[in-house]
Amino acid sequence: MIITDVLCHVLLDPGADAKSTSSALDDLVVEIHTDTGLIGIGETDTNPWVARAFIETAGTHTMGLGLKEMLIGADPMDTEGIWERLYVGSAMSGRRGAGICAIGAIDIALWDIKGKATGKPCWQLLGDAAHNAITPYASLQPEGHDVTSYTKSLQDWLVTAKKIGFTAAKLEVTPFGPYAHQQLRGDDDTIYAIVAACRDTIGDDFTLMVDVQYAWSDARRALRTLKRMEHLNLFFIETPLWVDDLDGYAYLHDHLDIPIAVGEWQNTRFEFADLMDRGKIDVAQPDVGRVGGLTEAMKVCRMAADRDRLIVPHCWKTAIGIAASVHMAAVTPHCPFVEFLPANLCDSMLRKRLVTEDLPMIDGRIPLPTAPGLGLELDRDALAEFRDTQN
Ligand SMILES: [Mg+2]
Repeated sequence: MIITDVLCHVLLDPGADAKSTSSALDDLVVEIHTDTGLIGIGETDTNPWVARAFIETAGTHTMGLGLKEMLIGADPMDTEGIWERLYVGSAMSGRRGAGICAIGAIDIALWDIKGKATGKPCWQLLGDAAHNAITPYASLQPEGHDVTSYTKSLQDWLVTAKKIGFTAAKLEVTPFGPYAHQQLRGDDDTIYAIVAACRDTIGDDFTLMVDVQYAWSDARRALRTLKRMEHLNLFFIETPLWVDDLDGYAYLHDHLDIPIAVGEWQNTRFEFADLMDRGKIDVAQPDVGRVGGLTEAMKVCRMAADRDRLIVPHCWKTAIGIAASVHMAAVTPHCPFVEFLPANLCDSMLRKRLVTEDLPMIDGRIPLPTAPGLGLELDRDALAEFRDTQN
């Protein structure tokens, strides 16, 4: 079997808006075609036009090649060999950032082909089952223009998530910082008050995570508020500091009794080595598409196991990314949860409509997939409807 074509679909949600803080309103879906007729699909969460350019560009020299030109004619079953070839062949302009995100979408599509070719769900090709079902946590991005309505939105969604069957949820609490929510403005006390109110609403018998999205620029200031939150029994605090402040993360780890989670933006195992070894983070959060696909994500999982850290994958995209996370989690014993954007608790039409059928959630858990590959079919009508035709 050889690869005959690589198609890039840049998709835009009707609500796509450069002022939005959500990255679930655009997508790059990659389809890899083979001479046998088998087609694999993957996606990645980065600027879709930039990632597409990495794939479709022509090369100018041996370490500045386009990804597509390296793929045509290759054996799609050779996921490891292809990853190295793409990484090295695009290294001068790729190596990190959008180049790795593009490789991630391609790699997911190759694993989809590999599963379909062998008649097995991807996870069975990755390892032995480590769970009998996967536990998703509901990822909740609140609405509202002031602290009161924002808190109320989070509380309402928490209650709904619990009713749907979720046993865990993550609160996005971002009253300031680079990801500040709409016109909402608050201070350190606001963060504490919102999280305390949510814990009070949902009770003790529910797993809560909190994401403050790089809110603090100073580890000592962050520590003052986070220390106050220790009694709220949080499963983790996500990205309290800027992504590159590895020494700040190590300082927080040494002084705080709440596990620290980072990794949504990181590309490759090399950046996770920095996070775990210098940043001392407790929970690594590879986003399968961004880290470089399933091939690279599994390496990060093994690194976390060696260092006694947890894996809780990031995913704020569509059913494709969720499926990739589920297949990875299925064979990863130290992965207690996957991030899950509930289709009915978000405003992304891509999340709601991109595939014909989601992996099912039963009593708050996702059974291990049994269909070959990722186990998904693209909804061709949605693909045509959301395709960007302007750029
Ligand atoms: Mg986050």
